[in-house]
Amino acid sequence: MQKSIERIAGDSEGHSYEFPVFRFEGTDKAAPSAYLQAALHAGELPGVVAIDALMPMLKKAEAEGRIKGSITVVPQANPIGRAQYHFGEHQGRFHLGTRTNFNRGFPLLAAPDVELLPDTTLGTADQRLKTRLLQLSIGHDIVLDLHCDDEGLAYLYVHASLWPAMADCAAAMGVDAVILWDEDTDGTFEGASITPYLNLPAEVARFDRRVATTVEYRGILDVDGALAGADAEGLYRLLVARGVILDQALSTPGSFTGLVAPLENIDMMPAPRAGAVLYKVKPGDRVAEGALLATIVHAPGEAGGRTQLFAPQAGIILTRRSRRIIRAGEDLLKLVGDRKSADARSGTLED
Ligand SMILES: [Zn+2]
Repeated sequence: MQKSIERIAGDSEGHSYEFPVFRFEGTDKAAPSAYLQAALHAGELPGVVAIDALMPMLKKAEAEGRIKGSITVVPQANPIGRAQYHFGEHQGRFHLGTRTNFNRGFPLLAAPDVELLPDTTLGTADQRLKTRLLQLSIGHDIVLDLHCDDEGLAYLYVHASLWPAMADCAAAMGVDAVILWDEDTDGTFEGASITPYLNLPAEVARFDRRVATTVEYRGILDVDGALAGADAEGLYRLLVARGVILDQALSTPGSFTGLVAPLENIDMMPAPRAGAVLYKVKPGDRVAEGALLATIVHAPGEAGGRTQLFAPQAGIILTRRSRRIIRAGEDLLKLVGDRKSADARSGTLED
């Protein structure tokens, strides 16, 4: 394993950011290669501790000569967001300097060619970081971007062109759900990882062996040793299932039995009023159409001071907020409905 340090120039003199990259060299040039990164949203740490638990497994495989395809690991992909504290609160989702989401605005290339990346020398530090992360990841057959939600199930976002070919990955990782999407106009890292292949001939794009996914490892507070160990096992199983690592002791993953739904089935459920949220449901709950989801206490102690929110259709609760203060219009939860959502906003990537 080789460790190198990446440096990203800051937006002022005498100021830069750095993060380590770990590389395992594969012994078989024909084997698929893999790229894993965590904490692009810098405060989302379940993937960071999963990688911490995975690294000894990779080192053992390397010592035993079982790493076939090369593996690049970036345990903490966002040193800019990692350093952002605002009035004592960590702010890892948006770049404070530009108000841009760290997982938006990645260049959507026409082909998987690093020569097509924009020159960000005169851009902002977050743009330089995005260009560098894409440069590190592009060309790998397997690209995993580890995130988490507020409170949620373990689930994957997967481009429809990779499904059901990626069902073995979902089974290997043991996630609860897979959300399929079609179009990314905002430039998520996942979108930037798969878009360059969408217009290539099938024999070049190789969707049968390609993996690109945003992994949502439950909620922001699910930073836990046992979960990290289980998630590391899942990542390892995926790498074995796809031939990156050889491990004859592992059996091939069974079929995926979790929930699979298109993005357009997700109801985001905006809060009708601002106030305190009393949730009636939690991630994983199955709800019927018309079921009570949450009550907003917006005028405490007054007649009519509570507003209830009901399920617009039957489905499964995928996520909910970790905070209990809500403002009007803010999304309260994600309900994966059995049918297409009537909400026009559904169908956009929300990781
Ligand atoms: Zn995220």
